[in-house]
Amino acid sequence: MKGKNTALIWKEEFLKHDTGLHPEKIERLVAIRSYLEKTAYYNNLVRPDFEPASWEKIAQNHDGSYVQGLENICQQKKSGNLDPDTPFSSGTYEAASLAAGAGMKLAEMVWKGDVANGVALVRPPGHHAVYKSAMGFCFFNNIAIAARHLKTLGSQKILILDWDVHHGNGTESSFYEDDSVYFVSLHQYPFYPGTGKESDRGKGKGLGYTLNCPLPRGSVEADYKTVYEEKVFPALDAFQPEIILISAGFDAHKRDPLGGMELETESFAKFTEWTKKKAKEHCQGKIVSFLEGGYDLTALSESVEAHVSVLADS
Ligand SMILES: [Zn+2]
Repeated sequence: MKGKNTALIWKEEFLKHDTGLHPEKIERLVAIRSYLEKTAYYNNLVRPDFEPASWEKIAQNHDGSYVQGLENICQQKKSGNLDPDTPFSSGTYEAASLAAGAGMKLAEMVWKGDVANGVALVRPPGHHAVYKSAMGFCFFNNIAIAARHLKTLGSQKILILDWDVHHGNGTESSFYEDDSVYFVSLHQYPFYPGTGKESDRGKGKGLGYTLNCPLPRGSVEADYKTVYEEKVFPALDAFQPEIILISAGFDAHKRDPLGGMELETESFAKFTEWTKKKAKEHCQGKIVSFLEGGYDLTALSESVEAHVSVLADS
């Protein structure tokens, strides 16, 4: 039965992060849910209960006083901005700690073999969040917190594949000197946030465990396919991951208002199929996907569905 081996988290509380008239808005998740609800497999998906990530868990990846400071400011103020791009509301801490907890729960379920794969449809997103601060619509780095949680469960080879149109600078910096988490990113370059040069390959013990694949504005699916075949998958084969985490942004879609790429909805199904095939070869299909960007509501909903449909087809 399609969907029974895939866990999906979507929670009303993610809407408490109220950004108003901002590209990363409440309506993104509402649109995705209504679109997924129309599929035949939606009701077969496993919907686990989970807790917000604790301060201690978040502080494995972020400065403790930054985490505490965000909680305090959300209690004191109805709204404001942490950086020019990153507004918060009184519900942001709750939503952000739940988003981090969602990823941890799915990572744990997939790691233990309870389900084949998992999808965290969360807000706020995470891949730009750095050690001491929020950045680029992100507060806590959900995928990095999940990777650190997997390490505490005994995983020693985690591969993070980030296909959001923007470079995942926060995730890269979390594991830049770590040889147990291999960070791979395909992104528009030059572009926000300015990082992600091909020559940035990691440092110290982590040298060779970061792979940046910058692509020029206007790249199409065939350009991405070449990069997957010539760079990403050979690196993945050599690393032999025990689990694959995906920073799944959908803002490289041709209709996205922020990104400058030319991907089709179906391109995200193909990326998912290729990655799933590799996950089956190396790690019993273990994949956990995290929603990052994607700002055209229709393109986003269709692309998320294309992605989830392939994962659910196990
Ligand atoms: Zn993005």
